[in-house]
Amino acid sequence: MDLVTIKAAYTSAKFAKEALTTVLDYKIDQKSKDKINEVLEKVGPIQDTIFELREELFKLQDENRDLKNSLREINRWEERINKLDLKKTSGGATVYVSNSETPYYVCPNCIEKKEIQPLQPYAAGYMGDFKCPGCDKSYPIGNDKLSLSP
Ligand SMILES: [Zn+2]
Repeated sequence: MDLVTIKAAYTSAKFAKEALTTVLDYKIDQKSKDKINEVLEKVGPIQDTIFELREELFKLQDENRDLKNSLREINRWEERINKLDLKKTSGGATVYVSNSETPYYVCPNCIEKKEIQPLQPYAAGYMGDFKCPGCDKSYPIGNDKLSLSP
């Protein structure tokens, strides 16, 4: 059921209620008036139910949109993480290495926070030490050869 169908049903119920209310003002016998009032009592709950359905549909549409956005975000992250391989380096550190054209080391600590932080050579440390600009953690990479960009 879509919003157009619900709106049409609501409009029909509203029309029926208004038409019956108008007929009540006509010069008709009491028996007919009683019957019309009986019908009007049934139309009210129908209108309420249609209104609730419309609200429920809005809520479901919002939820659906949020879930689609979450799924899109997850897929985007999966796509990025699939371009990384976890490797143990000769210096003893276990880090991620990108399998891109220009490979680089990635901080495993920041991956847990859903951040991809490329490690940078750490000038103040030993040769082969890299540091994460995101969490400041240093990694003993060693002298593994990656064709890192200059
Ligand atoms: Zn980090």
